[in-house]
Formats: sequence, structure tokens, C-alpha cells
Amino acid sequence: ETLDKGLEKTKNSVFSKLSRAIAGKSKVDDEVLDNLEEVLVTSDVGIETTLRIIKRIEERVSRDKYMGTSELNAILKEEVAALLAQNNTGEMLDFSNPSDKKPYVIMVVGVNGVGKTTTIGKLAYQFKKAGKSVYLGAADTFRAAAVEQLVIWGERVGVPVVKQQMGSDPASVAFDTLSSAKANDADVIIIDTAGRLHNKVNLMNELTKIKNVMQKVIPDAPHEVLLVLDGSTGQNAFEQARQFTKATEVTALAITKLDGTAKGGVVIGISDQFKIPVHYIGLGEGMEDLQVFAKDEFVESLFK
Ligand code: GDP
Repeated sequence: ETLDKGLEKTKNSVFSKLSRAIAGKSKVDDEVLDNLEEVLVTSDVGIETTLRIIKRIEERVSRDKYMGTSELNAILKEEVAALLAQNNTGEMLDFSNPSDKKPYVIMVVGVNGVGKTTTIGKLAYQFKKAGKSVYLGAADTFRAAAVEQLVIWGERVGVPVVKQQMGSDPASVAFDTLSSAKANDADVIIIDTAGRLHNKVNLMNELTKIKNVMQKVIPDAPHEVLLVLDGSTGQNAFEQARQFTKATEVTALAITKLDGTAKGGVVIGISDQFKIPVHYIGLGEGMEDLQVFAKDEFVESLFK
């Protein structure tokens, strides 16, 4: 229900474009396919993924000799489901049993403003609600506001936040967080990091350093590197995914702010283009407004 509501704008926009694209046509021909291509690109599915989808539909048209435009919706749904299935193969995360690693360490990356802090707060809430003990690490030491916001979330949710002074070494905050959490037998550790993209080499060095220092406490940490992207920013989200995947090994995506945007197509394109599973989606500003990404429900909701 939250998902339906959250995806409403994307869905309405895609369908109104789709119905315009096939208006007056009974058969899927080159013109309809061109129109469909435009629908997908302007829905922020991304050019590569759009072309992949179009090619597969073209193949079906030539194989079956005829495809009615009335079938296009169902066929698009199948193709989107197939694409999402390729990159979201793992088991869905269960907040009450996130991993066989204890503590389970999530390092969160992403540029400022995408909803990184909010996502960390929502995750902490979900884990806590599922009975897990959680530690947060405020390793985005470059912005006073980032630390303050994380502390506020920690209080709201009732989980400890490890922090140091502004401007201190992020790796040192990560080290402290992992040490305290481990000493206290925590289940889940979530580390915030600075979201500065101005220099790729700096970003890479910084993230590598944080990882190396974490590994002094927990040798195989982090177990997840979660990239947070703002789903309402369309092509910017693709660009950020490009930069971060070059700087570090991103293992999962959280796509935020899908409520109130018509650009939800990014979920389809980004996971396809970068071959990274989407683990979470953000559907609002509140504590409860984060869902584990369920590809089948997502497709059902989008094509309802
Ligand atoms: P950060 O700079 O990346 O840490 O971003 P914040 O977590 O501070 O979030 C920036 C703004 O986006 C805040 O006003 C959040 O309430 C808002 N926000 C975060 N996630 C979502 C979401 O899923 N939906 C909506 N509507 N707003 C969100």
C-alpha cells in the first residue's frame, strides 16, 4: 500500500506517456517502438537499459510476426521483471536475521542531500524493531549538521551513536564505533561516511582508509557497502553511481525519495546498468518509510 502510494507518480507518468505513444495504433511497429524508447528514456530508465528493453521487444515482435499495442503493457512488465531479476538474485534482507556475521557492518556512502542520514536512521529503527542491537558511527566528520542529524536519529530510535569532534579522522570514528560495538556484542553497525565527490582520488583514498581501519577490528568488515541515491534526481543518480562504483566496491543500493517523484524508473536502470542489487527503497521522511526492496512487488505496483 505504501509502495503503491509511493510509486503513484512514476506509474501515472509512465502510463500516460505510454498511452500517448500508442494512441491510434493497433500494432507495434517501428514508430511505436521509437515512441516507447522515448517513454523509457524520459522516465529515467537510462539509455543503456532502455535500448536493451527495446531490443528484446523488437526480437519478440519479429519472432511472433505481430504484436498488438494492447499487449505492450504486459510485455513491458515482463521485460522489466526479467531485468530486475537478473541483478536482484540474492535473498531479501530480513531485519531480524540480516546476516550470519555478528556484528554485521554496513558502510553507507553517497553524496550530501540524497537522504543518507535519514536512511541510516530508518535502518537503525527497522533493525532495532526486529530485536537487534545497533551502533551508529558518525564518520561524516566534515559536516557538523551530519553528526547532529545522526545523533538526533540515534535518540529517536534509541541506539548509541559514536562520534568525535568535527573534522576528526573519519577512519578513527569508524575504528571507535566498531570497537565499542564489538565490545558490547552488537548485532549491527552502520557507519556514515562523508559524501564529497569533488575529487575521485580523494574519495577513493578516504573510503579505502576507512575500510582498512575497520578491518583492524573486524577483518572482513564492511560486509555491505550501501550506496544511497536520490531517486528523484534521475540522471544525477546514474552519474553518482558511476563515480562511487569507480571509487569503491559498492555491494547494494538504497534508492530514496521515490515518493513524490515521477522518476522511479531509475530503480530499473541503475540496478541493470551497474549490476548492483537494490536492497532498500525510501518512500517518505518518516521512520517507517523504508522498505526492503522486493522486485516482484515493485513490478506489480508499477504496472498495476
Ligand atoms: P543526507 O545529506 O544525505 O544525509 O540527507 P538527509 O538524510 O539529511 O536527507 C535530506 C532530506 O531528504 C531530508 O529533508 C529528508 O527528510 C529527506 N528524505 C530522505 N529520504 C527521503 C524519502 O525517502 N522520501 C522523502 N520524501 N524525503 C526523504
